[in-house]
Order: sequence, then C-alpha cells, then structure tokens
Amino acid sequence: MADVDVTVIGGGIVGCAVAARAAGDGLATVLLERGPQLAGGTTSRNSEVVHGGMYYPTDSLKAQLCVEGRRKLRTFCEVNGIRYRECGKLIVAVEPDELPVLEEIHAQGEINGVEGLRLIDATEVSSLEPEVRAVGALWSPHTAVMDAEACAKAYGRKAQTASAQVLCGAEVVGLSLEADSWRVEVAPPVGGGREGWQHTSRWVVNAAGLYADRVAELAGIDVDARQWRLRWVKGNYFAISPRHDGRVGRLVYPVPPRDGSSLGTHLCLDVAGRLRLGPDVEVLPPRAGEDYRVDEERADDFYRGARRFLPFLEREDLTPDMSGLRPRRVAWWTEGFADFVVARESSDRQGLINLVGIESPGLTAAPAIADRVGDWLSG
Ligand SMILES: Cc1cc2nc3c(=O)[nH]c(=O)nc-3n(C[C@H](O)[C@H](O)[C@H](O)COP(=O)(O)OP(=O)(O)OC[C@H]3O[C@@H](n4cnc5c(N)ncnc54)[C@H](O)[C@@H]3O)c2cc1C
Repeated sequence: MADVDVTVIGGGIVGCAVAARAAGDGLATVLLERGPQLAGGTTSRNSEVVHGGMYYPTDSLKAQLCVEGRRKLRTFCEVNGIRYRECGKLIVAVEPDELPVLEEIHAQGEINGVEGLRLIDATEVSSLEPEVRAVGALWSPHTAVMDAEACAKAYGRKAQTASAQVLCGAEVVGLSLEADSWRVEVAPPVGGGREGWQHTSRWVVNAAGLYADRVAELAGIDVDARQWRLRWVKGNYFAISPRHDGRVGRLVYPVPPRDGSSLGTHLCLDVAGRLRLGPDVEVLPPRAGEDYRVDEERADDFYRGARRFLPFLEREDLTPDMSGLRPRRVAWWTEGFADFVVARESSDRQGLINLVGIESPGLTAAPAIADRVGDWLSG
C-alpha cells in the first residue's frame, strides 16, 4: 500500500487548488513546493486579471476552463475574504479598421459562453472612461482583478485544514513507478535544515509551472514527441506614475496582435486601483534562467503602444516594474495556438497527471483545473 494517496508537485495556484480539492475529498495528500513559500512563482508575477474567456478557440481547454474557472474563483474569493474587484474590461478599437476584430472576439466570446459581453460605440466608451480614446469597444463587465498570491495561499490553507501536508523547500528530483504506486524522491532543501526523503504515492499531479516539462521527463515522458516542451516567454510591466491614479477605473486592452502571441500590452489595475502597463512578449532563449529584470529600454515601445488609447500618458510617467515568465508549449510556434495540457496517463504510467503549458488564463482556470483533476482522483 502507498504511503499517501496524492502527491502534488508545485505550490502555485494550480497545485494549491488541486491539493485543497484532493484533501477536501478525504484523500491523504502531500503538496511539495521547492521554493521557500507557496505562490512564489508565476502565480505572483502576472496581471491578476480574472479573464472572461472570449479569446480562446471553441471547445479548447483554455476556453472551457477559463469560463468555468472565473465563476468558481469569484465564489472562492467571496467566501474566503480574498480581494476581488469586478471592474470590467474594455477591448478598444482605436482605428475604424480594428472594429471587425472586436466583432470576431465578441462572436467567439458568445460561443465560449462568456456572460455580459457587449459591443459599445465611442460615446459609451467615453461615458465609461472619459480619458480613453477609442472608436468603439467590446465591454466585458465581469472581468475582474484579484489578489492572486493571497488566493493561492488560501487554497494552501484550505488543503492543510483538510489534513494535507504542505511542505516548502521540497524539490521533487525523481519519479519512478513501482508496482501500483509512484516513488517520489525529494531533495533536501537548499541551505539544509532537513534530510531529503522518498515516499510512495498512488497518484502524482505535476503542477510544476515553468518546470512541468522537466518533471514530466523525470517520469520518463518524451516531452518533445508530445510537444510538451516549454519555452519561457517573458512579460515585462511598466508602472504608471501615481499622479494618474484614479484616472481610469477599468482594464483597457487594445485589439490583440493577429499572431495570437499575447492579448496586447494593456492597462492593468491591481486590486488597489494602481495603474501599470504590460505584459509585452519577450521570448527567452532555450535554457535561459529565471531572470526577472525589466529592461528600461523597452519603455519607448510601451509608451508608443499605450498612448494610442491613453492620450494623457507622458513618456516620463513610465518606470520599470515587475515581470513574469509564461510557460509556453513549443506547439504554439508550430500550430499558432497551444492549449493547456490536462492529461491523465494510462497503462505504464498509471496514476500520473500532467498539467503542462498552464500560461494565461491559468490563474482564472485554476479552480476548474483542480475540479477536473479532483474528479479523476476521487473517481
Ligand atoms: C506575464 C504574465 C501575465 C499573466 N496574466 C494572467 C492573468 O491576468 N490572468 C490569468 O488568468 N493568468 C495570467 N497568467 C498566467 C498565470 O499566472 C499562470 O497560469 C498561473 O499562475 C500558473 O500557476 P501554476 O500553479 O501552474 O504555476 P506556478 O505559480 O509557477 O507554480 C508552480 C510551482 O511549482 C514549483 N516547482 C517547480 N518544479 C518543482 C519541483 N521539481 N518540485 C517541487 N516544486 C516545483 C515552482 O517553484 C512553483 O512555485 C499570466 C502569466 C504571466 C507570465
């Protein structure tokens, strides 16, 4: 018999939500995070937008899990006192030739089941946001901002309350299948203080974010053959001078680039209403390290892009802020779109579940991913 029922690898929002669901279902659960605390990875380096789900192709996991996840996340935040603000979002057309793109996104949103979407004209845009320049917009009233790190930690606490063991400084370095359970090898924490160890687990859930391809390789999976190899795509942010605080009260996105590489460099608000711009798209070379420095030189591009719809901006309003890394599957470059991988192994890797390529809208989708995985674990 295995030592535990479920081992979750990775303590970002996805791993924490999976552990909360598994432990809540009465399964003996261990959550292993290699960093010194939960939610220290991509979960705390993003726009913190709870997306509606209108951009993603019909029936894709991104579309399904985003739409389902938004509703679940809102309820979870309400029940657990996590800051969540339904400020809404405008996708703006600055030139008339961008209006057909809004219609396409609107139509896709309707197919995906996004609630409340509406195309609005320039007059309505100015009544909502007088400082924003646009000839028309797609209005998404239920798009929100939230405190992502607090949310992930609340899932972690929920898991602990339901008797999960949550261990930080615990990097998984080996996975092997023995009879009907997985042997999980954990390294001692950097800096010492505890021995490494091994335990056996009936299920293993790989929620290792930027390293999910490497964790899959530990289990012997050929990630290149499956197009699960990840390339890190950095998203940089610039803060907008606090002298503009309160000038815009909703998220404002441009029409996204046609290549689908991002949603476009947008105006983000955090839960406190502070303004920043980002993220852009900077593809890092293979095997680049985690480097979160923001290059000041990028400010000109941010300024040019955002000034189209935020005419009050001055170049000196922008200062380098934070950055985050997207775990993007290589399939994106070959196929033009790469969906989430939420996959349960069978036969010779029975009991392993891989969550790979969980880039945006991964924060929004996290509770829905957790429920999908939870149904497999409990079923
Ligand atoms: C710039 C940017 C903007 C974004 N904006 C949004 C947004 O507005 N809305 C949205 O919905 N999504 C957004 N996303 C996506 C969202 O942030 C991610 O999808 C989400 O945070 C992924 O969470 P995760 O738990 O999968 O990964 P992570 O938060 O990266 O957690 C994975 C964890 O696994 C740990 N780990 C790795 N390897 C091991 C190992 N061997 N052993 C133990 N632990 C390990 C890591 O230390 C890490 O803490 C954005 C992402 C980026 C980069």
